[in-house]
Amino acid sequence: MDPGLCRDCRHAKVLRNDRASVFYLCGLADKDARFTRYPRLPVHACKGYEKEESKYETGPSETPA
Ligand code: SF4
Repeated sequence: MDPGLCRDCRHAKVLRNDRASVFYLCGLADKDARFTRYPRLPVHACKGYEKEESKYETGPSETPA
């Protein structure tokens, strides 16, 4: 399942259960009633979305000299 914006949002927490199902939990839901704890996926538009820059950043690979 494509989670949409939640994939790289800094407020998203990924949960996995024993059956390998994946859930996205919205961290804003505890502080703001406009957000749902378990958003319906995929999320295509969201006012709380903030890209987590470090989540999928890859730097140059270092090779031993
Ligand atoms: S703020 Fe929006 S995009 Fe971010 S985790 Fe919550 S529902 Fe997903």
